[in-house]
Amino acid sequence: MAKVYIFDVTNRDGVQTSRICLSKLQKTMINLYLDEMGIFQSEYGFPTTNHEINYLNANLNLAEEKVIKHLRLSGWMRAIKSDVDTAFKNVPSLKYLNLSISTSDQMIKHKFQGKIDYKGVIKNMTDAVGAAKQKGARTICVNAEDASRSRLQYLIEFAAAAKEVGAHRLRYCDTLGYDTPVSIYERISGILSAVKIPIEIHCHNDLGLAVASSVAGAKAAIDNGVDVYINTCVNGVGERAGNADLISVILAFKYGSGLKKYKLDDRINLKRAWKISKYASYAFDIPIAINHPGVGSNAFAHESGIHADGALKDRRNYELYDFEELGRGELELIDTGRNITVGEYSGIKGFRNVYEKLEVKFRDDKEAREILELVRYANVHNQKSLVEDELKFVAKHPDIAKLIFTMRPKV
Ligand SMILES: [Zn+2]
Repeated sequence: MAKVYIFDVTNRDGVQTSRICLSKLQKTMINLYLDEMGIFQSEYGFPTTNHEINYLNANLNLAEEKVIKHLRLSGWMRAIKSDVDTAFKNVPSLKYLNLSISTSDQMIKHKFQGKIDYKGVIKNMTDAVGAAKQKGARTICVNAEDASRSRLQYLIEFAAAAKEVGAHRLRYCDTLGYDTPVSIYERISGILSAVKIPIEIHCHNDLGLAVASSVAGAKAAIDNGVDVYINTCVNGVGERAGNADLISVILAFKYGSGLKKYKLDDRINLKRAWKISKYASYAFDIPIAINHPGVGSNAFAHESGIHADGALKDRRNYELYDFEELGRGELELIDTGRNITVGEYSGIKGFRNVYEKLEVKFRDDKEAREILELVRYANVHNQKSLVEDELKFVAKHPDIAKLIFTMRPKV
């Protein structure tokens, strides 16, 4: 039976969002945590954007060295041949691609404004797929931007053309969050009854329905016999009201009513949910909402008499799933005494003290000083204190870390 895979787009849709930024090191940490969670794929950036190049290549190195074990790293670009050419020039070992172009009347008429018509959209897309295949791409997905407002017949034509030239998947983009669970189920079933192609579901939250529509869209794909890849973002960030929240989508498939027969990728492990959510919140500078599913501070809190009494008698009275499964419930120590931190102006003594506490040892003084130098750069790069996992990452993979924060504008 077809399966549900999670394809996280925090490092693309998340970071292109107004007021949400991640440094290249922070994007790398998100990839590492996604990998530990057993997430199938990460849309990890923009291969045609110059400041991404070192980060993108460095993360492919991490995958090559099996530091990133299973997570597929894929690049997003416009579905035009010149973007594909630039992407492979910048990131030669790129293997997974998403090629995006608008398919709705609204966007073809009012965004392209006569520069490209309906035939032109399909021609650009098929040419781009052809170029990507020629460059050795392993998986190519074509993104129908604004699919939810596109004419179904045109989407079918678009999907058929994509499949014919060898695209492996179609991304159904609910770009404006317009779909409802009812409409997306019908529309994806409509496409798949005409063209059988694995589907990516990309829903936005403008109506507060991103998770619900993603679940319904995935159900339509599986009911029609194809694998489905749900696009998510950590903590539900993303353009405007956000994308489908990573943890909520996973929880829905694990515990939602009526979804038992829809199998989630069995590599998924929620144990790192708490960690990735907290890390992203720190990196984005956006608090986790108190009522966020699974990871909000009220997600397992009970106060009113009847609820507290019920939860204490049997957690299942008022908790659908266990906090332990999400990696919660462990004591977190906060040192309230003297605290030596390491930053962009640190010296070797303080640096040594911090790493001793992390139980990281250096071969000799030379190595310690080299790592200190990199840690100083990492702090300049992040502009905030490094978390333990970042400090360990820099010490363990100094050459890759160096590439990640090396940037030289091409102008
Ligand atoms: Zn989007």
